[in-house]
Amino acid sequence: MQIGRTLPPAAAPIGRANLVSGIRGILAGPRELERFQSELRAYFGVKHCFLVSSGKAAFTLILQALKELSPDRGEVLVPAFTCYSVPASVARAGLRIRLCDMQPESLDFDFAQLSEMLPQRTGNRQTGGISGGGGPQVLKVPEPESAEASKNRILAVVPTHLFGIPADVPRLRKLVKGSGIAIVEDAAQAMGEEIGDGKAGTLGDVSFFSLGRGKALSTVEGGVILTDRDDIAEVLRRLVGNLPGYGLLSRLKLVLLATALMLLMHPRLFWIPCSMPILRLGVTLYETDFSIRKMSSFQAGLTRNWQAKLGKLREGRKANVDRWIDVLARSTGPDSYFHGSRSQGLLRLPLRVADRDKRRALLRESARMGLGIMPVYPTSIDAIPQLRGMFEGETFPVADGYARELVTVPVHSYVTARDIQRLNTLILHVLT
Ligand SMILES: *Cc1c(COP(=O)(O)O)cnc(C)c1O
Repeated sequence: MQIGRTLPPAAAPIGRANLVSGIRGILAGPRELERFQSELRAYFGVKHCFLVSSGKAAFTLILQALKELSPDRGEVLVPAFTCYSVPASVARAGLRIRLCDMQPESLDFDFAQLSEMLPQRTGNRQTGGISGGGGPQVLKVPEPESAEASKNRILAVVPTHLFGIPADVPRLRKLVKGSGIAIVEDAAQAMGEEIGDGKAGTLGDVSFFSLGRGKALSTVEGGVILTDRDDIAEVLRRLVGNLPGYGLLSRLKLVLLATALMLLMHPRLFWIPCSMPILRLGVTLYETDFSIRKMSSFQAGLTRNWQAKLGKLREGRKANVDRWIDVLARSTGPDSYFHGSRSQGLLRLPLRVADRDKRRALLRESARMGLGIMPVYPTSIDAIPQLRGMFEGETFPVADGYARELVTVPVHSYVTARDIQRLNTLILHVLT
């Protein structure tokens, strides 16, 4: 902890103009929500859009809708290293969490393991989709009936663009084709990112964004669901329609939080919230009792002009990602996952620091100097205390390594070229 200039690890600032339009949104009521919804549909070119109170609320509702459409399926396959809200939402929806380990290089699924977990495509020659890079193509020995039956209980797979690094959704689509398994794209951290020829959030059967703190666009808290599928949308319309809204007190709380964020996210003042343990900044908890509500017109109002803001913030992050890549290429710094990240608007840039003591020293020094280097999630999903015993006999070594080794450096628009130099000097000093 220090007093003075302190970089937040990620930041999508709420400006004064946003706050004013938020207050106006309260007066406009449902019209403000309709405005945001129709802008989202136009921007992403999707048929259906729903607005709720958080990313985890969005994900839970999506799973409830899918479960209603396929009542005999009850398992959801998620990455073994992801936000704790993801398994929490699966549990909240009353479904079973299945984990798949990740690739050591890309933060995407380990596709060899994934294809083992998915039902085999029958009557359909296995095509190139599964072979690429995922290890040798082997002839599968027929499995006992029960293993195949269990695979047929999978309701959904959740590719995740962690930090905005694209997950290979087209490859996954080939794998699940014809299986009845839905792809739920976790684009919580990737709003506004372009992936191949498409936008993140338009690649799955259904997807969601988070509008929480530290995401690409923030309404204090908030979640967006997008889908082109009429059957999913029809169920969601009813589920979301029946949700409670924000009461007077919780709306007032949102206004106060938005005001605090507007004032305190700036590096000049960010040391203040950092020094208040009650805010539990940077603490990751597994909680399933979160509230699930309709988005308020205040939150919708905060988003006025979001397309321009999202684009501008992304340009700032892209420029900083490129600066980092240049700096890291010249130094003998840590491994990073910047392969292919040039000109991508990552939310935070992940670096891998394998040495435990050096990593601890780096985090300590960064906190002292206010440079915004942060760990990611404290453990892989299987090691969350509340989930112990659920993954008996399974191990997820790559995900576990990510939890122990990853740190992120900030790239948001408050980060200057000078900050990057200071950060790099610190990194080199601690690591070499
Ligand atoms: C933030 C996040 C969520 C949950 O969103 P909230 O708005 O915080 O509920 C889900 N998945 C990922 C990858 C996230 O980063």
